[in-house]
Amino acid sequence: MRKKIVVGNWKMNLLKTQAESLANEVVNLLRHVDLSETKKVILSTPSLYLNKISELTGKEKFMFSCSQNIHHENSGAYTGEISAERIKSVGVSYTLVGHSERRAYFDETNELLAKKITTALSQNIVPIYCCGEQLEDRRLENHFSVILTQIEEGLFHLSSDEFKNIIIAYEPVWAIGTGETATSDQAQEMHAFIRSLIIEKYGNDIADDLTILYGGSCKPSNAEELFTCPDVDGGLIGGASLIAEDFVNIVKAL
Ligand code: PEP
Repeated sequence: MRKKIVVGNWKMNLLKTQAESLANEVVNLLRHVDLSETKKVILSTPSLYLNKISELTGKEKFMFSCSQNIHHENSGAYTGEISAERIKSVGVSYTLVGHSERRAYFDETNELLAKKITTALSQNIVPIYCCGEQLEDRRLENHFSVILTQIEEGLFHLSSDEFKNIIIAYEPVWAIGTGETATSDQAQEMHAFIRSLIIEKYGNDIADDLTILYGGSCKPSNAEELFTCPDVDGGLIGGASLIAEDFVNIVKAL
């Protein structure tokens, strides 16, 4: 069954005490919201805090912690990196893979991301695979082909059984942190396109169960409109996830 999910991406923000108090505030506010097996909340925090935040979310039935990145190997001489096996050991069950900031600033390619996806799955970590076009791609009407390539090269090496355990986040790069949101029509159009690719490759049942999140300046004022689109199954939230009340109001929009 398709799951509705809201993920907060804290990026490289918050000091330890701020991170803990934000997580506590979110947990407390969400006690008044009906979460369930098909309506979950995930906090993607700086790796330093994953241990602590996992302890907090671990006490809640439908809240989880998430890494913002993993290395493509499970272990070894990779100074400064974190891996799926290590985050698993502190209770993390999700990881972002291929966020546009990692693609842009750390030169992550689809080929590398495909390896990270496989490694995450090998440790039962659910990868949230981010894809999205640049503004120029949209201007030139190349946005569908950019997403097609990102999905094919990043994910289509997976077997059907593996693919059942992934989440996709569509995040148009021009909408991330800019205050400019994709319209609900633009989001729905791309989400439906992504789902059609999955139908073609893996069939109707797997495509129907796939959670596809929207990310890009999602906030309390536009979340409901975005989330009512039939192929938008929740959101990946950056800036607004740093304010407990805003984040929880976005969850309520689910
Ligand atoms: C993100 O970081 O994935 C994101 C969507 O950021 P924002 O909500 O700030 O645009």
